[in-house]
Parts: sequence; structure tokens; C-alpha cells
Amino acid sequence: MDQKLKKLLKKKKIETLFDVLWHLPHTFVDRSNLININKLEIGKICTIKVQVKKYNIPRIRNLPNTARCEDLTGKIDIVFFNSREGYIRKILPLNQYVIISGKVNFYNKKYQMVNPDYIVPLEKEDFVKKVIPRYSLTEGITEKIYRNIIEQVLKKLPFLLEWHDENIMKSLDNKSWRESIFYLHNLKVKQDFNSSYFRRLAYDEILSSLIVLSQIRKKIKKIKKKPKKFINNLSKKIINNFRFQLTKNQNDIINEINKDLYSQSKMFRLLQGDVGSGKTIVALIAAANVMESGYQVAFMAPTEILSRQHYLLANKVFNKTNIKTSFLIGKSTYLEKKKIISELKKNKINIIFGTHALFQKNTEFNHLGLIIIDEQHKFGVKQRMELSKKGGDDCDILLMSATPIPRTLIMTIYGDMDVSRLIEKPSYRKDISTLSKPEIKINEVIEFIKKETKMGNQIFWVCPLIEESKKLDYEAAKNKFTYLNKIFPNKVGLIHGSLDKDQKEIILKKFLDKNIQILVSTTIIEVGIDFPNANVIVIENSNKFGLSQLHQLRGRVGRSNKQGTCILFYKKNLSNNAKKRIKILKSTNDGFKIAEEDMRIRGFGDMLGYKQSGIKEFKFADPIHHDDLFKLGEKNIKEIETDEKLFNKYETLLKLYDRADIINEINN
Ligand code: ADP
Ligand code: MG
Repeated sequence: MDQKLKKLLKKKKIETLFDVLWHLPHTFVDRSNLININKLEIGKICTIKVQVKKYNIPRIRNLPNTARCEDLTGKIDIVFFNSREGYIRKILPLNQYVIISGKVNFYNKKYQMVNPDYIVPLEKEDFVKKVIPRYSLTEGITEKIYRNIIEQVLKKLPFLLEWHDENIMKSLDNKSWRESIFYLHNLKVKQDFNSSYFRRLAYDEILSSLIVLSQIRKKIKKIKKKPKKFINNLSKKIINNFRFQLTKNQNDIINEINKDLYSQSKMFRLLQGDVGSGKTIVALIAAANVMESGYQVAFMAPTEILSRQHYLLANKVFNKTNIKTSFLIGKSTYLEKKKIISELKKNKINIIFGTHALFQKNTEFNHLGLIIIDEQHKFGVKQRMELSKKGGDDCDILLMSATPIPRTLIMTIYGDMDVSRLIEKPSYRKDISTLSKPEIKINEVIEFIKKETKMGNQIFWVCPLIEESKKLDYEAAKNKFTYLNKIFPNKVGLIHGSLDKDQKEIILKKFLDKNIQILVSTTIIEVGIDFPNANVIVIENSNKFGLSQLHQLRGRVGRSNKQGTCILFYKKNLSNNAKKRIKILKSTNDGFKIAEEDMRIRGFGDMLGYKQSGIKEFKFADPIHHDDLFKLGEKNIKEIETDEKLFNKYETLLKLYDRADIINEINN
């Protein structure tokens, strides 16, 4: 293959033989029937058999060369931009019959084909007259060239030894990998998720991902650590000081974590639960046990504000104990940092909170025993692998995330970790009342907000990304800001996507400190931050958001014992899907349930958190259509895990799905 073609293919991410196979046609063109000129359909791709009658070669720049052709029923101009006369005379010899296939236009009262896809002599008729798969291709690669490549690849497709056992094959209609590939590239069918060929490839993909994660998990489990020793003295003390009772769900998870801490293998656990479900409290109890065993704890968050909130909560929680807390961020002064680093080294700090600045090169812990990381759903498998090594063998790791993931996907996304789910809500949390309003009723909403602000409550006003352009979005939010500021002078703030992280934090802090009462924003407000005083969230163009996003936005309010309200604004008539979403939102506050529904309504590709979750996009597997295959995979992987030797069977599979490199990395 020549270098230029390689480069063009690379643009489409086609670099290996297998990339060619995975790049499925998006539709098919039917060139199989010859059509008389008087039956041509404008705008369609047609195949004709015509005689070349005369040429028109204008010899003026920018004017195309044309060849007039005919059949018994009519005339057509074959038009060439950028083709030389010699070439045209060669492929369209005067008075000869030829087969031409391409898109039909009508111009100047005449049929035309501009730069047809195929012009062949009669004896090559059969090459063109086919149903031809169409691929989305990059400029510069013609259908003909790509067809050649794919036909060669398919011709050389090897017979591979089946990797699935009989039972699994039965569930897959006994379709082999090879025949499935052939089917999907060759037949005149729409890509159908439910065809058994498609399902076979989807299952391969699911299992390959489960195998990789399972291998990573096993590797982490093999790390031997010194078990933590504690008798819950410190944790009991802090729990007794809470003004609330832990939920059963929280207690169960604390027990799970304690087991991990007591054990000889390194903990690598994810704690999942809606914002406000009480994850941080659970994490701090785990931290207490680790500190009682004489170890230090590092608690990391993606932003300064979030991290400061953890720090403040911890100071309350550890108030009457001898635990020494500390806080380190990128902006801390040189002297502060120097002091903290020296204290960490001398074991004078027991638990430290901060952003990634916690793990700069010169921080050295005396005896680090647990790393807690909040809101890091953006970490992919490889980053998590790096993470699992952090802190050395004796250091346990607990990740927390409020991004809801449907049940079907948990293993495929987080199979390398143990997962705890916090579903039960602390009882003080009231359900937020959710209502929808057409935008023309904005005055009613303003009246409502006037009342709320009088009571000292705060309001989020979200103007989502509507245009692709940041500038236009900014305009929309700015206009709303100006509008609200007239009604509520000096009480409104504005936060938008073009601000950098520091600028955003300054405004959020103003809002937290109640220096402003209404916050207009273009983007989603940082997950995880607690605004206890915010009570109302107004969401404009709410139909632009998916269910999970609306649920997360709604979760920004109602964090205290006051009633929270979520107002969904919409422009025109609501679509059926939008109505469905509102109904679901009103009916439940369970983030996991909502994630499942979201996936069902929107399809899984658009789901919040999925794109950020770091898994490679699936090529075939789709959790909505292949729910049963995901379940089958979970059973299957458990069987495979029982015997190390069983893994070897899947070597080819891992190569096919380009996961061999990550397996190599694990084995290093
Ligand atoms: P998350 O980290 O999941 O967002 P937090 O642990 O920060 O949630 O808890 C949110 C708030 O709820 C905190 O103020 C915390 O003290 C309180 N809280 C936690 N668990 C309970 C409970 N079981 N009952 C009542 N309040 C609780
Ligand atoms: Mg939190």
C-alpha cells in the first residue's frame, strides 16, 4: 500500500488489518440494475449503459470537459472537472458502449453525471453492477480504492480456532467470527443490532473487555500488604458525635471496606452514590480506621473548592480527637508547602486534603496507608492502573464517584475494581419538587424567586450549551444575567465556560459565601460541591439535557432541610421524549434508576459520564440491545477466572480487539 493512502486511512483511524474489518459500511449502494436514461432519478446513484457521441472540450479555465452520451431513450452529459482530454477520450472512446455509474443531476434541462464513480467497458459490467457497501471515508480515498482494500482483506480472512466454549456458542447461534465479519461487510442489510452475526461480534467485544479488567484486578489482588490493625476506637468516637444515624447501606459498606483494610491484599474499591448520599462520611470513617492503625491518609479532589469542603467537613468530624488535618493546593505559598511537606514526612499530619498538588514530586509521606479520591469518573483503565500502584504496596485505595452508571455497565467499566453502591439516601434529604414550565411564563417564576430570595435562599439559573459556539452561549447567559440583575440588583453572578478554573472558583466561592444570591451559569456546576443554601434550580432549554444530567443538576439543590425546587423551562411544545423525561424525574430520585432510563431513552452513546468514563467506545456492543450479552459475559468471566489456564484460549480475541498491549502491560 502506498504511503499517501496509508496516511489517508490513518485519518480515519484505519491502521491495521483489523481496523479495516471493524470499519463497517454505513449503508449500501445498489448499482446492480441498468436503468434507461428516461427512467433516471435525479439525485440518485444509477448505473447506465450508453454510447459515447461527442466531446465538448472548452479549453477555458474552470469550465469542465464533457462527453455527450446516449441510449435509445435519451441523452446525458458526463462532466469532468480536473480531467484531461486524453484521459476522457481513453475511458470514453467515441461511438463505443460503456457502463457508467454515479449520481444523476439535472442541469440546463439536461441529465448529467459529474465525475462518475465508475466508467468501465462492457466486458467489466459485472464488476460495477453490484450492491456495494458504502463506508464513511476520508477525502482522497475513493469507493473503488477502498473496495479493493476490503475485498483483499476479506479474501485473506483466516479461519481462527474458536475461543468460546460450546455453551456460549449456543447462545450466539453458533455463528463463527469469520462468517460474522463476512456477513457484515457483504450483505445488503441494514446494520441490525439483533442479527446473530452482529451479536457474535458484540459478545466478543464485551468479553475481551471483561478479560482485560479481570486480569488487572487479579494483578492488584496479588499485591500483598501489611493488614491494618484497628478496633474501631476512633471511628466509634466520631460516629457517636454525629447528629445523625448512619444508614444501613452506609454501615454495610463500612464493613466491606473494613474487611479490605484488615485483609492482606491491597484495597482497590469504588464507592458509587448520588451527590449527598453520604459517601464522604463513609470515606472519613475508613480514614479514621486507617489512622487508628498508625497510617496517614491522603484525600484528593479535582478542584480546590471541593477539596476545601472535604477539609472543612473533616475538621468538624475529627474535632474532638487528636487527629491532625491539613490542606494543600497548587496555590498554597512556598512556605506553607514547605511546612506541610516537612510535617507529612515527620508524621505530624495524619490526614491531608487537596488537589493533585498532593502528589507532586517532593511530597513524601511518613507512612501512607490510604488514598481517597473523589469524583474521578474521568479516569480510564490505564490511569486507574497507574493509580493502583500509588502509595506503595501497603497503601489502600478508595475512589468515589457520583456519576450514575447503569447496572449493565458496571462490570464492563469497573471490572478492575470492587464496587460498593450507596443507594439509600440519608433520611433528612427531602425529594426535590420538580416542575416544568414554558418559557413565556417566566414572570411566574420570577415571582417565586423573589419570595425565595427574601427568605435568604439561593438560586441556580442554568443556560445550557445550545449553539456549538461558546460565544453565542456566553451571549445567551449574559443576556439572562443582565435581565435578572435589573430585577435583583447586585444579587446576581455569572459563570461561563470561557473562564478558567481559578476564575470559576472565585465566583463559586462568592456564591458559597452568599455574596451573591442568584448564579447564572452556562455549564454544569461542578459535581460534588455542597451548596447547602441553594434551594432552587432553574434549567433553561431543559430538553437539551439527558435524564442523568437533569438529575445531577437537580441534585445541586435541596441539600439542607428546606424544600428544594427544580424548574424545567422549555421553549415550544414538548416532545414525547421530553415529557417522558419529566415524568421519570418527578417519579424517582434514584440516580441509578434514572441512569438506566436515560440509557433506554437516549441510547448509550450520549449518556452523561459514558464518554468521560475512559472506556474505549464499543464498536458493536450496545448495553440497550445486548443487555443479555453483558449478563452472559459476567457469568462467563467468573467461570474463566476459576482457572488461569482458561485465559490462554482468548489470546486471539484480545489481539482482535486491540487489547493485547494492555495485557502485556499488566504482565510486566
Ligand atoms: P456525598 O459525599 O455522597 O456527596 P456527604 O458524605 O458529603 O455526601 O454527605 C452529605 C451531607 O449529609 C453531609 O453534611 C453529611 O454530614 C450528611 N450525612 C451523611 N450521612 C448521613 C446520614 N446517614 N444521615 C443524615 N445525614 C447524613
Ligand atoms: Mg461528595
